[in-house]
Amino acid sequence: MKVLVCNVGSTSLKFKLFDMPGDKVLADGKVERVGREDAIFHYGNRSTGYSVQLEGQSIPSYAEGIQRYLACLTDPETGVIADVSEIERVGFKTVLAKGFYGIHELTDEVLQAMEDYLVVAPAHNGPYLEAIRQIQQVLPGVKLVGVFETAFHTTIPKERRIYGIPYEWYEQYGIQRMGYHGASHGYIADVLTEQCGGTGNAISCHLGGSGSLCAIQNGISVDNSFGFSLQAGPIHANRIGDTDAYVIPYLLSQGMSIDEITRGMDKRGGLLGISGVSNDLRDVQIAAEGGNERAQLAVDVYCAGIIHYVGAYYAELGGLDHLVFTGGIGENSSLVREKVCKAVAHFGIVLDEEKNAQRSNQARIISAEESRVKVWVVPANEELGVARRTYEYEK
Ligand code: AMP
Repeated sequence: MKVLVCNVGSTSLKFKLFDMPGDKVLADGKVERVGREDAIFHYGNRSTGYSVQLEGQSIPSYAEGIQRYLACLTDPETGVIADVSEIERVGFKTVLAKGFYGIHELTDEVLQAMEDYLVVAPAHNGPYLEAIRQIQQVLPGVKLVGVFETAFHTTIPKERRIYGIPYEWYEQYGIQRMGYHGASHGYIADVLTEQCGGTGNAISCHLGGSGSLCAIQNGISVDNSFGFSLQAGPIHANRIGDTDAYVIPYLLSQGMSIDEITRGMDKRGGLLGISGVSNDLRDVQIAAEGGNERAQLAVDVYCAGIIHYVGAYYAELGGLDHLVFTGGIGENSSLVREKVCKAVAHFGIVLDEEKNAQRSNQARIISAEESRVKVWVVPANEELGVARRTYEYEK
């Protein structure tokens, strides 16, 4: 079955066409700066190695972006399929829909439920809704599947989902800890299962522009550091992470508007907010090494948040077999991995410093032979996670 996976950003679309169940990527594609006259279009055919990148393109809409990609896919010279009708399903890494937390066909009812939670995940649900509606028009009759980022976390026990809020807020508005980054953490569970025959007790650290930790026990999620929204957990690139909810009424009482507060929490917090330098850890690290104290503080706060959750999950799991780093920071920052592993060395973690310093795009173990806990670096592959779940959905 040909499954097209579509990853939607606020002004970008990324595609991968998979041949399932073999996990084979046939072609990938990317459109950046949708809606502008200087958009970038990329297409690559994985079997022939053909690849094209066009800059300065006019791509006014997501629909135009996908049409361009489909034209390349079906072109006799560059393509991998004869006709778009060969695409049976499109899988989306959707984020959140009220009352639909698993894997769902994207019916009008599910799209309405995404609309209902627009305010909780504005940076994600808005662009996804627009892209899905346009792709419905471009590919009529194709089954569109939403692999919601909450799906892997529906197994988290209720005592870890329920906040101490008036119970009717949970009942009426659905306010509870959801957990996100399900496609990534679910993929990590797949990798451990493939390589070790099971996950045992594992902690998956997805550290990128947005970060979360997940406690995995025997293949299923039993906790995740995100909350009702993607604002919780360790600090993110721009988002604040865990904060006392009473900050908000206090700032309102001081004359700030709710828009200013939400903008501050979404865009001006996290690594950027503390360092005042950048939302990119690479820049923050360089500034810290140059003696910038706020940049150093940002790195320390970042690592402290991760260490906090590793400790909490160690307690919840009752022990640890695997500690996994993934995402842009998890895969590339040997410094963050070292700081975290050293802080929790008493859990039976011995890092091999040479292996930690090496780079590779393969899943690998970076702990020493004698380490009781295996420490892994695994390249994130959320698209494959989405392709597998889309293929398996009501097969
Ligand atoms: P992601 O959201 O998973 O694509 O991760 C993107 C982030 O990874 C960037 O914002 C950088 O902060 C971070 N990153 C990438 N390479 C490195 C590196 N070599 N050292 C530290 N951080 C990095």
